[in-house]
Amino acid sequence: MVNAEDRLMQWLRDAHAMEEQAATMLDALAKRIEHYPDVRAKIEEHLAVTREQSRRLQSCIATRGGDTSTIKDMAGKMTAMGQGVSGMFATDEIVKGAMSLYTFENMEIAAYRVLVAAAEHVGDTATAAVLQGILEEEIEAAETVGAMLPDITARYLTREEATGIEAKR
Ligand code: MG
Ligand code: FE
Repeated sequence: MVNAEDRLMQWLRDAHAMEEQAATMLDALAKRIEHYPDVRAKIEEHLAVTREQSRRLQSCIATRGGDTSTIKDMAGKMTAMGQGVSGMFATDEIVKGAMSLYTFENMEIAAYRVLVAAAEHVGDTATAAVLQGILEEEIEAAETVGAMLPDITARYLTREEATGIEAKR
């Protein structure tokens, strides 16, 4: 039998690992972009938000009495990141990267909806409030990336059709 407090702690650790993976993915994506500076800027912006989320999760874990010394090892467990970089080096890399990012943001939204409900379930309103704040940041990020997809696609296709212009990233 696992109690709700232990389950919440496990999910907080999973979320921390997810954010560490997100930071790695966003950093890798941003660094490879050459021809879409506005996309790069948006990714870098969310990278800063992501690092802050990771720090806030760590403090939620500590406040709830969790051990934060093993947190670094846990990050390696998360494999969602593999999905995020699967489009790397593809000829349509910018489009695949944006699609992966949109998928990742929506996965984060699902995780935080579960976490907010779990924190509320155990009556931890302070943790629930932090998680709700992060959830709202992820919803905003998903909306931003989703709204950028048509424009990225159109610009990619235009570049690809023009001779001598690199389109992929
Ligand atoms: Mg995040
Ligand atoms: Fe995110």
